[in-house]
Amino acid sequence: MSEQPSSYLSSKLEGRLKADKSGNSIFAIEPIKKGELIAVFGGVVYEWEDFIHLPEREKMLCIQVEDRHFLVPRPISEGDYVNHSCNPNAGLSGQIGLVAMRDIKIGEEVCFDYAMSDTMAYDEFECLCGAVTCRGKVGGNDWQRPELQKRYAGFFAPHVQRKIDAMKAERKAFERAMRAAAKTQKYVTQPTMSPNK
Ligand SMILES: [Zn+2]
Repeated sequence: MSEQPSSYLSSKLEGRLKADKSGNSIFAIEPIKKGELIAVFGGVVYEWEDFIHLPEREKMLCIQVEDRHFLVPRPISEGDYVNHSCNPNAGLSGQIGLVAMRDIKIGEEVCFDYAMSDTMAYDEFECLCGAVTCRGKVGGNDWQRPELQKRYAGFFAPHVQRKIDAMKAERKAFERAMRAAAKTQKYVTQPTMSPNK
């Protein structure tokens, strides 16, 4: 008997070898509604120090689930072959759930953007996704791009969302400090404008 796969893939999808045989992908074989669950990733969790020594193939199929934690599928199944796209139709729901960001038609490949889960440079590559919005190179710092933060709001893994929130709070605090400094400057240069301050 074959081993139970560690990841779940909705029965509305199937794994296929890409037409150019460059790798595996998952395709919709039934229509999928926006918000529907597509996959739940499973496997073994590794901390960064151990994770970086794993074989390349395992590192490519894993998903980052925390700042320093990575979920590696064991055994690998078709649900683990969700590719990256810079114009994805799926996004994360929590650490390991994948949901449809919009309605998906039969025959469409299901992809998410690795910026939704990655904050470490363990799987950087030149992207050939062909999307108009393709950023050319996918890297561990892509989550910092304001346009992606806006486009994927609600679809980032929790550990990435925390970083985004912290970044925004920092930016706001900086802007507040700049405004306060500008005000002080104003009082210094125009003291007669605010005699009581
Ligand atoms: Zn791309």
